[in-house]
Amino acid sequence: MFSSEVVINEDRCHGCGYCVQFCPRECLEMDRGKIGPLGCNLPVVVKAEQCNTCGICARMCPHWAVEVFATLEVPGEATIREKVAGLPRLMPSPPLANCAGCQHPTVGRIIAGVIDELKLKDNFVAFDGISCGGSTVLSLDFGQVVGTYDDPIEMALAAKHAHPDKIVLALLNSPKFDITGYNSLMRAMTAFDKITVINCNDPLYGPWPKGWRVATPVGCIVPVPDEAELAVSENHVPMAEMAATFKGVAYSARGALTSVDDYEHTRNYIRTAIQKQVDNVGVSLVDVLCACLVLSYEAPVDCLRWIKEEMVTKLPLGIYKNTVYEN
Ligand code: SF4
Ligand code: SF4
Repeated sequence: MFSSEVVINEDRCHGCGYCVQFCPRECLEMDRGKIGPLGCNLPVVVKAEQCNTCGICARMCPHWAVEVFATLEVPGEATIREKVAGLPRLMPSPPLANCAGCQHPTVGRIIAGVIDELKLKDNFVAFDGISCGGSTVLSLDFGQVVGTYDDPIEMALAAKHAHPDKIVLALLNSPKFDITGYNSLMRAMTAFDKITVINCNDPLYGPWPKGWRVATPVGCIVPVPDEAELAVSENHVPMAEMAATFKGVAYSARGALTSVDDYEHTRNYIRTAIQKQVDNVGVSLVDVLCACLVLSYEAPVDCLRWIKEEMVTKLPLGIYKNTVYEN
């Protein structure tokens, strides 16, 4: 007899509800009467018999709180119990500094899985700055450097120039891109540098006091520093589309994590982007629309819905450039 078991680690669960949202068989529900150690409601398994051990709940959990086991019992033989989904191998502990539902760690999980699959662990370095994204990089079980907040691209470029044989990745969030990453990315794209840039494109990060940040998507409703009112963003730079116009860019794509299909497409984009660097083709860039709850005042699943319904219409998903020649 085959059976499945979904185990929720209550010490890690932040109550975002993604496991419930994404389970294709409605096996899970949030238990509104149960508060976990982190002060949030916890999911519970309500239809264990419907679980097919697909592992989607574990993959979509940003906090490594879900493990899925499959058990096979054959009369007269030893029972076999195997873990089919859980912690990513090269990212053994969940990032520390992330809010409930933040999808930076999900991007980190994808990167860790791709590096494992491509067998690059010993030749790969990821760069980030001190931030929630930096916390993601610090959780990786391979080369990682976390510098000052501003410019992971600059650090990745310096490392690549010093060690052209290394595979380097700059992991951004959009405020970093706004501050100085823009300049460094321009330089890399015009200089035919061979680095990979992954941008966790947070939907909500607001304006500078004297103008909109270049990457805040049009239509974002965000607080204005030192003012009580909210404002609507009027400008943004479509990073993936812009990068595709540069000759020095080998690959440019935009993904999201609002559905299981989106997750799989984004994983393919990130895998291809890293492979482009292995193949020495040029700058490779993936813009990933990620839930960020800091300023939204929304439940995480509502933030995902907003990304799907609003943000994707302004920043469409897909591959914008895929060059195969070697420069
Ligand atoms: S393993 Fe798949 S079917 Fe089972 S609870 Fe998780 S998402 Fe649902
Ligand atoms: S996805 Fe993870 S953190 Fe979110 S509710 Fe489910 S178990 Fe908890």
